[in-house]
Amino acid sequence: MFNDTICAPASAPVNSSLAIIRISGPEAYGAAYSFFTNRENIKHRFAAYGSVVDNDEIIDDVILIYYKSPLSFTGEDMIEIFCHGNHLIVSRILRLLGKHEIRIAEPGEFSKRAFLNGKMDLTEAEAINSLINARSDWEIKASINQMHGSLKGVIDKLRNDVIILKADIEAGIDFSDQDIEFVSSAESLNIVNDILDSLIELQRRCNTGNKTARGIDVVLTGRPNVGKSSLLNLILNEERAIVSHIPGTTRDLIRESIQIAGIRVNLTDSAGICTPGDEIERIGVELSRKNIDNASLVLMVIDASCRITDEDREIISTLRDKHVVYVLNKIDLITDKCEDIIKSEPLPLIPVSAKFGTGFKHLEDKIASIIAGEFVDINSSFLVDERIILIIDSSIETVQRAIELLKQNEPPEIIAFELDELIAKLSDITGEITTEDVLGSIFGRFCIGK
Ligand code: GDP
Repeated sequence: MFNDTICAPASAPVNSSLAIIRISGPEAYGAAYSFFTNRENIKHRFAAYGSVVDNDEIIDDVILIYYKSPLSFTGEDMIEIFCHGNHLIVSRILRLLGKHEIRIAEPGEFSKRAFLNGKMDLTEAEAINSLINARSDWEIKASINQMHGSLKGVIDKLRNDVIILKADIEAGIDFSDQDIEFVSSAESLNIVNDILDSLIELQRRCNTGNKTARGIDVVLTGRPNVGKSSLLNLILNEERAIVSHIPGTTRDLIRESIQIAGIRVNLTDSAGICTPGDEIERIGVELSRKNIDNASLVLMVIDASCRITDEDREIISTLRDKHVVYVLNKIDLITDKCEDIIKSEPLPLIPVSAKFGTGFKHLEDKIASIIAGEFVDINSSFLVDERIILIIDSSIETVQRAIELLKQNEPPEIIAFELDELIAKLSDITGEITTEDVLGSIFGRFCIGK
């Protein structure tokens, strides 16, 4: 527990209907008792209505909630004030708190106190930050799972397995003169191999999660003038790209992020793929090809009014190892022949009209099902920062070293030493063992009031 009491606004510094101010620490209750008019109703988890007063002057009418230690977010005595959302009122209340020796909190200081008071581990604390900064429904869901201990559960189980193995190996050392074997070398090797598999699986789940959070890269491609920019605008629901009947209007890349099926998608409209006429067009086409190489999904746009041309087929042939959605655009120009084209082509064409929005829902569903099915394992990926990724990488190295040592029949003391190192690394992830520097860098990324 800390001796000082901290406060901060927990809502954004803009005028709004309400603002929230948080106070945490030993002086929280006493201060509220002296500046709140309805002091007899400052009761644990009770919403009391009254005024905040500075001497006899009313600053604002508010709702005040008291959380008695340890049943609060930080584990300390806490007060939350819901005042009117005017930053001048918020500033006046904060100044008033200053008179009660309550200082302004540093970024993430409430969460840091919650962590240090054992209210949550580091993976859960970091998930709060991910939740606040989430840019897609998927990130929100993953952050909430992590806040509820999904990653902590995996790490705790792994660490427990290592602790049990190490205890058995050490017991064997202690009783080596009595011919009692707690765990054989072969059994140890099996267990350590399982631990390695679990760590590699954890690494995969973290990498998938982080990739999903960054967004799935989707590129629009096709010949010039087939309607790529029009389709981009339709998907984004805004006039982002210039639409023109003059071929080659999009020479640079237009990149925007949207949400499809709850997942962040980075959509790029590239220059049309064609035989370049000038230097700028050549650079544009080259950039397009690079983008296609890096994309997870390609939307290959075809102009229905021209049917599928040789140039289209040439582009299609370069997409062989990619996930591709074939979009048959401008169907409004060929309403009567659309079915014929679709039937005569082996490609799974999705008919749309970017100009009129026809077929858009079908296209969006198709993109969503590919993204959800192929790229994201929604229920099992984790959102972690570089710190955790590096610890997992280095834990894998430690386990691999332990496996080698076991294979070489090295003495149990040496194996136990490696396992000790592994336990320490896993403990770092959840924050069982953490230095002040690490905590500073983690919680410093949080916003004030969290
Ligand atoms: P891009 O070069 O592939 O990006 O093609 P644009 O989006 O700039 O479109 C080229 C031309 O085709 C423009 O004149 C658009 O208005 C037109 N266009 C795009 N989509 C459609 C469509 O679905 N139907 C019709 N009739 N015209 C379209």
